[in-house]
Formats: sequence, C-alpha cells, structure tokens
Amino acid sequence: MIKKSVVEEAEQIQLAIELIRLGARLQMLESQTTLSRERLIKLYKELKGVSPPKGMLPFSTDWFLTWQPNIHSSIFLNIYNFLVEYADLKGIHAVMKAYKIYLEQVGKDAQDEPVLSLTRAWTLVRFVESRMLKLVPCTCCTGNFVVNAYDLNQNYQCGICHIPSRAGKTKLAKEALEKSLAVNA
Ligand SMILES: [Zn+2]
Repeated sequence: MIKKSVVEEAEQIQLAIELIRLGARLQMLESQTTLSRERLIKLYKELKGVSPPKGMLPFSTDWFLTWQPNIHSSIFLNIYNFLVEYADLKGIHAVMKAYKIYLEQVGKDAQDEPVLSLTRAWTLVRFVESRMLKLVPCTCCTGNFVVNAYDLNQNYQCGICHIPSRAGKTKLAKEALEKSLAVNA
C-alpha cells in the first residue's frame, strides 16, 4: 500500500463523499479517488444505507444523442466548458461544479433522479475528450448541442427547433382532428 499523508487521505475521503452524494457509481469513485475499493464500498454503504449497484457502466455514445438526454447533456456540457474556460476549474472538480449547476438549472437534486446522472455527465466529458462527441451550434437557435463527432453536422438543427417525428405525428393528428371538426361545423 502506498503511504499517504493524513491530509491527503482526508481530502480523498471528502472527494469520495461529495461524489457519492452527487450519485457517482463505484467505477467512477475508483477511477477518481485513490481510496481502495473496500473503503469506497464502506463509505458508500455508510452514506446511502445500501451497497453500491454492481455491474459495468453500460453507456455508449447513443444515449447522449436521443432527444431528451441530448438536451440535458447539452446543458451540462455548456456549463462544463464555461467553467473550464473561465473559472479555472479542471478534471473531476469541473465535472462536479458543472453538475451542481446543472441540477440547479433543471430544478432537481441528485436523489431526485435527474435525466443526466453524475456518472453519465462524467462519461460525456470523457467521450468529448476522446473526440467521439462534440458540441455544434444549431443553425436555428444558435445554442450549442451535443452531436456525434463522426456525423456530418452541416446545417444542424437541435431537438428543440426540429422536434422529432413522434411529436410531428401528434401535430398531424391534431390538424386532422381540427379539419374534421371544421367540416362538421
Ligand atoms: Zn435550435
């Protein structure tokens, strides 16, 4: 075991506590702190009253591109980029701070099952760092949204400006209903 100073260890425990409170999964805790798996499990149980969920993180880039997750992921990533650029934050501290602001923006707390979990937010940053996902501006509203970096994203329109087909179907159904009402009037 590597010898650590007491202060250093206290900082690592503090970081782990904050991550657990924000909803981090065990794999994320192991990757972002120097604490042993056993200690992290113990800490998790103490704070949450239950064992951490088992299993690997199932995330692929696809999830971030589906309609509602894309909007939430884009909000988070814009905040994260802003903090990295202007607030001199980096790494896990930038992820945590951006995630707290994201929760405030969507009016949720970490226990409230927000659309974007902390572990997913962290995964998103890693996908962006490995250049699989990126932000591009919507040609309609000029907001920046998460897209697949390998797609052609010319004339990109976001999910808010260009509502997906299931919403379109509802609109068509509404128009059809209005037409039939007009005929009967
Ligand atoms: Zn837009």
